[in-house]
Parts: sequence; structure tokens; C-alpha cells
Amino acid sequence: MADDGMTLNDISGRSDNRLKAALADVTDRFIAANPNSHERAQKAAAVMPGGNTRTVLHYEPFPVAMVKGEGAYLIDMDGHRYTDFLGEYSAGLYGHSNEIIKNALKEAIDAGVVLGAPNRWEGLLAEQVCNRFASIDKVRFTNSGTEANLMAIGAARAFTGKDRIMVMESGYHGGVLYFPSGGVSALNAPFDIARAPFNDIEGSLAILKANRSELAAVLVEPLMGAGGSIPARRAYLDALRQFTREHGILLIFDEVMTSRSASGGLQQRMGVTPDMTTLGKYIGGGASFGAFGGSEAVMGQFDPGLGNPLRHAGTFNNNVMSMAAGYAGLSQVFTAERADELFDRGERLKADLNDCCAKHGAAVQMTGSGSVLGIHTSTNEILSPKDLNDSPDKLKLIHLEMMMRGFTYAQRGYISLCLPMTDGDCQGFVDAFADVLSTHGDIFAA
Ligand code: PLP
Repeated sequence: MADDGMTLNDISGRSDNRLKAALADVTDRFIAANPNSHERAQKAAAVMPGGNTRTVLHYEPFPVAMVKGEGAYLIDMDGHRYTDFLGEYSAGLYGHSNEIIKNALKEAIDAGVVLGAPNRWEGLLAEQVCNRFASIDKVRFTNSGTEANLMAIGAARAFTGKDRIMVMESGYHGGVLYFPSGGVSALNAPFDIARAPFNDIEGSLAILKANRSELAAVLVEPLMGAGGSIPARRAYLDALRQFTREHGILLIFDEVMTSRSASGGLQQRMGVTPDMTTLGKYIGGGASFGAFGGSEAVMGQFDPGLGNPLRHAGTFNNNVMSMAAGYAGLSQVFTAERADELFDRGERLKADLNDCCAKHGAAVQMTGSGSVLGIHTSTNEILSPKDLNDSPDKLKLIHLEMMMRGFTYAQRGYISLCLPMTDGDCQGFVDAFADVLSTHGDIFAA
């Protein structure tokens, strides 16, 4: 019983009602402010299921459609300007209009597309990648991070002669490699899978021991991105590294989302070197991209000069746009210094937002590492997806209120920063966030 005679059930019922009312109010304002995006979504729904061709871009009541991007800013169909904290789920590292990237793309297009042959950029981009990532002696390109992971798994199975792959509970490695807690995606590639609890050394070692003679590889993100922006602990990665090394199992880091954490990826920052690494997102300079790489021995299986090589196909694997823009980005823009600066900016933003939550007495917290962050509506320590206790309605309320204040990010709470972002942009985000928390203080009260 609370002091005023209300029961805790009464209090939580009232706060549920306030949340529902606040959500209805912001949804009405959002719909009224975005008639052109609304109409576009309705028309698209006649020819695309839900008006959508990429599930993660859908949110309620409908996603605003963008017509222009400049630096770290976006303009939508109704003329609103946003500071872009989604950063195309980390693929938008360079922002929307970097001159070096634009010139590389123009140069590539002007020289002719679909050449159907090796081109002058792919070896240069490969050299950049191999020089940066300690685990990559040789690399091959794909069209997406999903494909990169599929190919890395295939390479590991061929190399070890074993079939099973250990992944993390709630891990995401692409549209056909998704392992939601307690469920199975009907779209998944039918690999022989063992699931382990992320960041839980004992639990994971138990799975490893039980499966050691069948396991070809362990596939893990050094920070779970889609799983909630949850960093792996160094000791956890060390334990995986040690066990896999001792038992002839390949350790694959999916750095599709985290390679931006340092010039040599999060593996460099964490000081743990896997056997193989998969890449994607920004490394194609904003054009479609994926890559997988590893030791000479594992990657050598793909050498077409061999008698019976692994055949890795893909019409657009070396498309000139991705190769040229990717090379320009890594060689001229995303230097080691800029990678560190971006990481530090993200850490400052995380700390400022966490301070802001504490100051407002809000049961909201930021997770993540460097420039990949996550908003969560709870205060408990989050070490793995099983610790997540988010209220989808609260996340939705914060998201729509932030959109109305000119800031985009993913409704589920995912944030990634881009290079053209300034301290002022980050401060603007913190100020707007503070305004949302104080406007709805009772809803978010700890
Ligand atoms: N792996 C991780 C960790 C990802 O975050 C993603 C995409 O978000 C992928 C793989 C799949 O990449 P793509 O969307 O390019 O297929």
C-alpha cells in the first residue's frame, strides 16, 4: 500500500493509462505532421507487403520517407530536417554527402559499370582491409553482411570437415541467420546450430564442451548490435578464444556492425583476434557491401587456381561502386585517428545520456560501446539479451517524441553515429532527450 492509500496496482494502472494517452497524443501529432510520408506509405502498401521491402525500416504508425541527405542531416518528404542518429544501422558512417566518397562513386560510374571483369579498385580495397584487421590475411567481397556470414560459415565447415555452428541466443547475423530467444526464424538457412548464452562463460563453455567434436565454428559479435547494443566482456571473448583454439574450432567475429570501433575493428580494441572476421555496412562507402576474411589457410580454399576450389559466386561481389567508394573511404576518410575520435564521441554521448536519465530520475539507460548505442527502458544491468526488459510502448513514445524534435534513430532504441556529426549535434540530442524525459517524467519515473 502506498502512502496515499493507493495500491501498487492502482499506481501502475494509472501510469499505464498515462503512457497510452501520451502515445496516442504523439502518434496523432506525428500523423498530422507527415501527410506526404503517410500517403507514400499507403500507396506502397498496395504493391509491397506493409509498404515495406526491409523489415527493420518499418515502425508505427508509419515510417517517414527521406528525400535528401546532407552530412549528418536528413530531409523528409514533408520538409522536416533531422539529425541522423540512425546512421543507416551503422552503414552510414560517412554521412550522406562526403565529397571524397561522392567523387569516387562518380569516377567509378563515369568509367563504366557492370564491367564483368576484375577492376582496378578491388585489390586496393582488399589491401586496406587486410592491413587493418589482424585476423584477415586474405579477404573476399560479397553484397551484404548476410552473405559474408553465410560464406564464412561455409568456409569453416569446409575447412574443419565439421558441420555445427555455435551462435548466441538472440544473435543476429543477417536475414537468414537470426536466432531470436525461444524461437526459430522460418527464413533461416538450415544450418546445424547450437545456441549459447552471450557473455556467460560457464554456460557457453558447457555448450562448447557438449558439442566440441561436431563444431566447425563459433559465430559471435563482439558487441551484439541488433541484440540490444550489448558489448561482450573481454573475459568472455578470451574464454571463447581459448576453447576454440584448443579444440580446432574456428572463431568467427561478426564485425559487420562493430568494425567501426577502431581502425582494426572491435577485435583490435578488445585485444582478441578471431580466426575469421565478417564485415559489411560502411566499408562499401555507402554502396552494398559485405566481406569475409581470415587466415591464408582458410581463405586459400577459395583460390580458383587450385584443383578443386570452393566456388564463391556473386555477380556484384566486385561491383565498381562498392569497390571504389570503399577504397576511397578507408584510404582517405576513416583513418585510425578518426575511428578513435568517433568511438570517443559515442562514449561521451552515452555518458551524457546516462547522466540525463539519472538527473531526471528516469528508469531509462544507454548501453553500447563507442558509436553504436542502445536505449533501454530499465535500470538493471544488461549483460546479455536475457537481461532486456524494455517496454515497447515507452521506446515508441521516446522515439516519436524525438522524431518530432528533429532526431532520427531506430524505434527499438538503436543509435549509430556518423563522421560528420558535431559535438553540437550530440548536445542537441541530449537536450531533446532531456525535454522528452521531463515532459513525460511520471511515465519514465524509476
Ligand atoms: N551481421 C550483423 C551483426 C548485422 O548487424 C547485420 C545487419 O544489420 C548483418 C550481419 C547483415 O548485414 P546485411 O544487412 O548487409 O545483410
